Amino acid sequence: MRVEELAHTHVADCYQCGKCSAGCPMADQMDVIPSGIMRLVQIGEVEKAAKTSAVWQCLACQTCSTRCPKSVLVADVLDSLKQIAVEKNIVHPKARRTAIFQKTFINTVRRNGRLNELELTGFFKIFGFFNDYSIPKLMADGNLALPMILRNKLHFKPGSPVKDKAVVKRIFEKCFEETEK
Ligand code: SF4
Ligand code: SF4
Repeated sequence: MRVEELAHTHVADCYQCGKCSAGCPMADQMDVIPSGIMRLVQIGEVEKAAKTSAVWQCLACQTCSTRCPKSVLVADVLDSLKQIAVEKNIVHPKARRTAIFQKTFINTVRRNGRLNELELTGFFKIFGFFNDYSIPKLMADGNLALPMILRNKLHFKPGSPVKDKAVVKRIFEKCFEETEK
């Protein structure tokens, strides 16, 4: 099962004790609690699990995985479902901007070898706008630009280049190889 390959865990080991949900700091905000997500995956409803907003609300705090008496890596299961949601274009509507931010962030680091804040902000605003065509969201935070410039917190020039971009390229290639297996 792809979820198991991505998360490096066995979902069948879960016996629905609920300890993961009981310890999850986000459970009361989630549309499906972590043990419920585990159950959906167990019965083959992977897409249904990947469509939840819960997978995007997860803080990756690892409490669930630590508490699980069966050593199921619950947090990694949720993380793998995020990846599947992006690949299948079934990200929960409330989380689409989060997914866009994460993708833009990774692409920026991939291109530059490190984070370029201005590039990240620019691309995120553009791709975010084409997600919902919201002018208020496009303009949001604009009032912060001047105070940030005055405090020298907005860097127009990218930082010093990474010494060996080839290493960064290899890291990304290796990661993509792993996820495509
Ligand atoms: S704590 Fe482990 S065994 Fe219990 S419901 Fe969660 S994943 Fe399943
Ligand atoms: S890793 Fe996510 S699902 Fe697990 S306890 Fe933390 S917030 Fe909840």
